Amino acid sequence: MNLDNIRIVLVNTSHPGNIGGVARAMKNMGLSRLVLVQPRQFPDDQASWRAAGALDLLERAVVCGSLDEAIADCQYVVGTSARERRIPWPLLDPRRCAEEIALRSGREQVAVLFGREDRGLTNDELKRCNLHLHIPSDPAYSSLNLAMAVQIVCYELRMLLLGDTLPSAADDQWDAPFSTVENMERFYQHLEETLVGIGFLDPAAPRQLMARLRRLYGRVRLDEMELNILRGILTETQKYAPPPSGGDRGQS
Ligand code: SAH
Repeated sequence: MNLDNIRIVLVNTSHPGNIGGVARAMKNMGLSRLVLVQPRQFPDDQASWRAAGALDLLERAVVCGSLDEAIADCQYVVGTSARERRIPWPLLDPRRCAEEIALRSGREQVAVLFGREDRGLTNDELKRCNLHLHIPSDPAYSSLNLAMAVQIVCYELRMLLLGDTLPSAADDQWDAPFSTVENMERFYQHLEETLVGIGFLDPAAPRQLMARLRRLYGRVRLDEMELNILRGILTETQKYAPPPSGGDRGQS
């Protein structure tokens, strides 16, 4: 995949603020090539304001007089649409579409077209595309803000680009190793001794206490550092426990 071979083409955008929003959405996700086909108002302060740190993309944006000019050198063109159209066409969601784009972008020029705020892309424009992309929004209100639609598509491309470099589980980069079974068993033994020592657990009627505590800690999954802290607390707690009463408690 080569993000530099992917251009985002905005057709006849009415609101300059949206152009700025698109520039920002693109730059956040590492895309840099913005093409504007007959924007109603550009350059414009609102565009610059909404672009925030992505002014460079606006400065480098290519303004074209026609869609043909914007995509003349492209080998693969994707058209985005908020609605199902009458003519059936190859249609994918952003995630699967990003896979297609990624594949082509290695060696080909790819364009992703976004339509007008009020009318989207015309059927004629959509017919020039190899593939249609639809963000599966709620059919009761399917049309996203232009910049937000661009954001979703660019995000999917970025996720593909990062691929295996992203952590695959929430605790992938934890700062301490998770406890082994052996150490957990020592901990449960220590915990049980302490609970008996302070009179919280009656060995004659243990009920399900230890099982429930095992379930609790098993759900949390302790790391070695956390385990050592808890062991330390248990050791200190034991110092406050009354001395074991043994068999000769008998006076009362
Ligand atoms: N009223 C227009 C919507 C235009 S929204 C229509 O019904 O077509 C402006 C642009 O944002 C669209 O042309 C498209 O490029 C993009 N967009 C908005 N919602 C989208 C969706 N659900 N899926 C794909 N693209 C979408």
